[in-house]
Amino acid sequence: MSRKHVSPNALSALYRLHARGFIAYLVGGCVRDLLLGRTPKDFDIGTDATPNQIKKLFRNCRLIGRRFRLAHLHFKNEIVEVSTFRRAGSPSDNPEPEEEGRPKRPRHIKDEEGMVLVDNVFGTPEEDALRRDFTINALAYNIADASLIDFSTGLADLNDRVIRPIGEPSVRFTEDPVRMLRAVRFAASHGFDIESAAWESICELSSTISRVPPARLYEEIQKLFLLGSARTAFRLMDKSRLLSTLFPSLGRSIDGNSRCRELLEANLAFIDQAYRSGGMALSPALFFAALFGPSLERAALVRHKEGIPRHQALDETCALFMEEISKTVSVPGRVGGRMRAILALQASLHKMPPRRPASIAGRSEFAEALAYLRIAAETKKEYKPSLEWWDTFLLEMPPIAAAEPATEKLPKKRRRRRRQKGRHVPMAPSDQEKG
Ligand code: ATP
Ligand code: MG
Repeated sequence: MSRKHVSPNALSALYRLHARGFIAYLVGGCVRDLLLGRTPKDFDIGTDATPNQIKKLFRNCRLIGRRFRLAHLHFKNEIVEVSTFRRAGSPSDNPEPEEEGRPKRPRHIKDEEGMVLVDNVFGTPEEDALRRDFTINALAYNIADASLIDFSTGLADLNDRVIRPIGEPSVRFTEDPVRMLRAVRFAASHGFDIESAAWESICELSSTISRVPPARLYEEIQKLFLLGSARTAFRLMDKSRLLSTLFPSLGRSIDGNSRCRELLEANLAFIDQAYRSGGMALSPALFFAALFGPSLERAALVRHKEGIPRHQALDETCALFMEEISKTVSVPGRVGGRMRAILALQASLHKMPPRRPASIAGRSEFAEALAYLRIAAETKKEYKPSLEWWDTFLLEMPPIAAAEPATEKLPKKRRRRRRQKGRHVPMAPSDQEKG
C-alpha cells in the first residue's frame, strides 16, 4: 500500500504518535479504500495512546464523545479521527456502583434484545479490529514498518469482493442493526457481494432496523443513497425488506405497482449517473422528492379525484407521509417542507406556457423543482416539452429577471439570488447531456 495516497495530515499524526512511542495504525475504511485504489472519504487512526495523551500531543486536538472519548485533529480541510483501541465489552467491565459520591458510568450496556447501547472499554489492536463490523473494514496499516495487519480474513475477502461480518452475522446485526445498512451500502458502492449467511441474516432481521434511533437512521440513509449507487442500494433494501420497514408507505406502493417501482428505479439511476458524471451532491430534499415523489404524486391524485383541490391533496399527502416516516427516520422538517415545495411547483412547471415564469424562476425551490422535472422527464416523455421550454427560457432570460424572487415582501437588498459556497448544486442541463 502506497503512502502517496494517504492524507499528509494523517501521515504526520501517525509519525508523531509513533515518535512518542505509541502504536499508530491507519484503521478502518481508509485502509480498505486505499487497497482498492479508491480515494478514502476520511482517515481514521487507531492507537494505544489514551484520549488525554493524544490531547497533550496535538494542539489542534478536540476530544469529543461523552461515552467514548475520541480525538478529532482539526486541519484546514479535514478532520482526522484518532481513537484509542477498544474491545467489545461485557457486563464484568462495569465499575462497582459507588456507595457515596457520584455513581460511576457503566462501560458496557446491552438491552434485552442484545443491542449494544454503550461500549466503552479500551483494548488491544487485535480486539479493536475484531469489534469492527466487516472483515474488509478491520484491516490496519502500521506506520512503524509500513506493514498491513489483518486479524481476520480482510485481505482475502477484499480480493474476493465479499462483505463478511466478523463473527456470527445474526449476533453482529443484533448488536447494531445499522450494520445491515452498512453492508448494503458497501455492496452497492463497491460492487461487492454480501456473503450468503450474512444476507440471510439481514433478510431475517430487517424489521429490527426500526430499533435504531431515527436521527442515526437519517444520517445512514443519506450515506446510502446520495453517493452514486442509489439504485443498487434501493434494490438490496427492497429485497431484504429493509426498505419497507423504514418507509412502510413506499413499500406498500411499490409492492403492488410495478410501474411505480420502474419510475422510481429510473429516477435513482438518473441521479446516480448525474452524480458520477459531475461528482455533484444532490440536496437531501431533491433526493427525497426523487425517491418518494412518484408514490406521493399517485396518492395525491387519488385524493384529488375524491374532490380535494390538487394543491391541498398534495399538501395533505405529504403531511401524512412525513408523520409516518418520522417514527423511523427523522427527516428534518425543513427537508420535508422543501420536498413538498419541489413537488408542489411541478404543476406550474408543467403548465405550457407558464404563467408569470420570471416569478416562478425566482422562487427559492425553483432550481431543485426544475431538477426534479428533469429527472421525471426521463421516464415521462410528456414532460419533455416543458423541460425544453424552461431550459430555453433560462438561457434567454436576463440575469436580473432570473434572480427575481416570487415574494414581493422581501426587502430590496435581499432580492438578489446569491450563490452560496458549498451549497448543493441541482442538476443543470449540461449534466444531463454529459450523462
Ligand atoms: P466510509 O467510506 O463511508 O467512510 P467507513 O468504513 O470508513 O466507510 P466509517 O463510518 O468512517 O465507515 O467508520 C470507520 C470504521 O469504523 C469502519 O471501517 C469500521 O471498521 C468501523 N465501524 C463503523 N461503524 C461501525 C459499526 N456500526 N459497527 C462496527 N464497526 C463500525
Ligand atoms: Mg470512513
